[in-house]
Amino acid sequence: MKNRLLPGIICYVITSLFSVAAQAERLNVVASFSIIGDFAQQVGGEHIDLKVLVGPGSDAHVYEPRPADAMALAGADVVLTNGLSFEGFLSRLIAASGTDAPIIALTEGAHVLDDPAGGHYHMNGDEAVFHAAAQDPHAWQSVANAQVYVENIAEAFCAADAGGCEEYRANAARYNDELAALDQHIRDAVADLPPERRSVVVAHNAFRYFEDAYGITFLSPQGVSTEAEASAADVAGLIREIRQHDAGAIFAESISDTRLLDRIAAETDLEIAGTLYSDALSAEDGPAPGYLAMMRHNADSILSALAPR
Ligand SMILES: [Zn+2]
Ligand SMILES: [Zn+2]
Repeated sequence: MKNRLLPGIICYVITSLFSVAAQAERLNVVASFSIIGDFAQQVGGEHIDLKVLVGPGSDAHVYEPRPADAMALAGADVVLTNGLSFEGFLSRLIAASGTDAPIIALTEGAHVLDDPAGGHYHMNGDEAVFHAAAQDPHAWQSVANAQVYVENIAEAFCAADAGGCEEYRANAARYNDELAALDQHIRDAVADLPPERRSVVVAHNAFRYFEDAYGITFLSPQGVSTEAEASAADVAGLIREIRQHDAGAIFAESISDTRLLDRIAAETDLEIAGTLYSDALSAEDGPAPGYLAMMRHNADSILSALAPR
C-alpha cells in the first residue's frame, strides 16, 4: 500500500516545488499608468506580477502616490514609464523607494513630436493649468509608437529574465500584429471622411500624435498665458478656431472636467458627441478596458460623429 502511494506522493511534492519555483521566478513589474500596464500584461503574460501605479480612470497629472507604491517600486525587477515629463510624480517616488530596478522610458526610439508651445493645458473647471513638456508626452496616441513601446517592454523583460525571453518576444510580435491591424482600421475609416469634415474639439491637447498619424484635427482650449500656473481659458480664440476649421463635434474626455466644453457647446451649434479616452483606460466594464479597445472606441466615436449624414 505504502509503496503504491509513494510515487504519487513524490510526484505531488515535485510538482509543488516546481510551481513554487515558477511563482518565485515571476518578474515584479511596476507600470506607471494603465495604458502601459496593458502593454506589459500583453508581453509578460503569466511570467509577471504587475503593479500599475495610476490605475484605469485616473489622471497621472494629479496622482498622489501612496506608501504601497514606494513598496512596490522597492521590490520591482523592472519599472516601466512613459517618460517625456508625463509622470510628474514619479522621480521623487523612485528616489524615496530606493529601488535599484532599471527605470525604462518606453518612448525611447518612438517618433516623438516637439511641442512648439512648450507644453499643453489641462482644464480644471474654467482654469487652464499649464503642463510644461518640451516634447509632447502623449506618444501612445499613434499606434506605430505603441508598437515601439511594446518592443521596448519585450527587451526590458528579456534583460531582466533571459529564460522567458523567447516568450516575451513571441507575445510582443503577436500583439504588434494586432496593433498593425488596428492602425489599418483607423486609416481606412478616416479615408472615408470628406477632407473638410476632419476636425473635432477636445478638452485637453492629448491627441497631437493621433492628428499627426491619421489626419484628424483636434482643437482644444488654451490658456491666456503660459506664465501663470492657472489662467482663464481663451474661449473666444477657441470658438474662432472652431468656425475656421468648421469643426464637426465636441468630445468630453474621461479624465477632464466638462464645464468649459458645455459652455463651448452652448456658444457654438455643436453637441458633445461622446467621451474619448486619452491618458487612461476605462474600468473593465467600460468601453476602453485595454489599449486596442480604447483606440477603436476613440476612432469609431470620432468617425461616427464626423461621417456625413
Ligand atoms: Zn499633461
Ligand atoms: Zn494628457
